[in-house]
Amino acid sequence: MRAWHKEELVPGEALAHRLFDTLARETADPPGVTRIGFGEGERFAHELLMDEAAARGFEVAHDAAGNLFLTQPGEDRSGTIYIGSHVDTVPHGGNYDGAAGVIAGLAAQAIFHAAGVKPPFDITVLALRAEESCWFPHSYIGSKTALGIFDGKLLDTLKRSDNGRTLADHMCEGGFDPEAVRRGESLIERKQAVAYIEPHIEQAPVLEIERLPVGIVTGIRGSFRYRTAKCIGAYAHSGAMPREYRKDAAAATGELILRMDELWADLLTAGRDLTVTFGEVMTNPEQHGFSKVAGETHICLDVRSQDKQTLETVRERLMAIADDIAARRQVRFEWGELTGSTPAVMSKPLQDMMAAAASQAGIPYRVMASGAGHDAATFALEGIPTAMIFIRNQNGSHNPDEAMDMADFDQALSVLVHMLSMPTAAWRG
Ligand SMILES: [Zn+2]
Repeated sequence: MRAWHKEELVPGEALAHRLFDTLARETADPPGVTRIGFGEGERFAHELLMDEAAARGFEVAHDAAGNLFLTQPGEDRSGTIYIGSHVDTVPHGGNYDGAAGVIAGLAAQAIFHAAGVKPPFDITVLALRAEESCWFPHSYIGSKTALGIFDGKLLDTLKRSDNGRTLADHMCEGGFDPEAVRRGESLIERKQAVAYIEPHIEQAPVLEIERLPVGIVTGIRGSFRYRTAKCIGAYAHSGAMPREYRKDAAAATGELILRMDELWADLLTAGRDLTVTFGEVMTNPEQHGFSKVAGETHICLDVRSQDKQTLETVRERLMAIADDIAARRQVRFEWGELTGSTPAVMSKPLQDMMAAAASQAGIPYRVMASGAGHDAATFALEGIPTAMIFIRNQNGSHNPDEAMDMADFDQALSVLVHMLSMPTAAWRG
């Protein structure tokens, strides 16, 4: 691995800081920034990135869906290392969610370029479209279209939340080709793709609390969800109804929550990755009352894990616990529609390379799961070796106060550049 001196990284750092400033200024929508998927702010970001890439002689292309590809030729052109993320934001969001990954890629290219060093393989920076599902109600539009696996029917049915116009319509307006997207055309050849790396701000406070600048991601949690579950008991007089004859939906729901919390703690102790969240729990406001035993509750349950088997175990245990409670408390649980997503595992060899790069660069890190979804999940589930590096951020994400210290970004960039300097044999492993 090439050892990079601090001064050699400066051209990339300076470029990145300038791009963040320009984006914050030009896509400002106080409080925060707004870059709508297939909208003005996203288009501005693409042009800004294209200009910087073109100025360095990199190859610039859009695919049929409008995803942006910025390619710096490597020593060996038979392989491509993709570095990407999205540049859209939620309304009045922060400047770093998404953009940090794309800018880190371009900054890494700029460092190789300024040093007159060719990377081992081609490096293609990918600015993926419309990742934030607040604009079109669908996950990973950019990565799915980039890989040619997008369900074509959605082009005409997904409508943008601010104007009601279809995804196909917005692609046409941008000069792109929804019909080619429908045919599954893609600029990414599977055998050419050596890796996909997504740098991203951490959207939880773990790195901040543990005072670490970066995290190496092991996987992106998948989930199962019940958004419309109910517990059905029977309304009764609070003073008159004896305990043993009650069908108390509130008490049954409370027991369910506590027993699931115990199960969570047990599985964590056993070394499993898991989150269990009852995000909405309520009695029915039309029928509940101060002096009534609750006859019904509404429940939302969201369970996430990096491990598919853990999700299955938890769902089986949930049903067994609910059956036990229902029998003892004379209530019944109605679960409603089950939705969810598949966990995406990050490549272990790439995680090891990233860890070696961090050690070489002298940068402390922790290994961690991603609780939030990212385009990296699409690449990993398509069998492309995938890695993510998290950058510490302050004040959470998806809000105007989202913050990232440039010194932390520079550390992540240093890890990335050291990793990208590893020889082709390391990448082809
Ligand atoms: Zn993001």
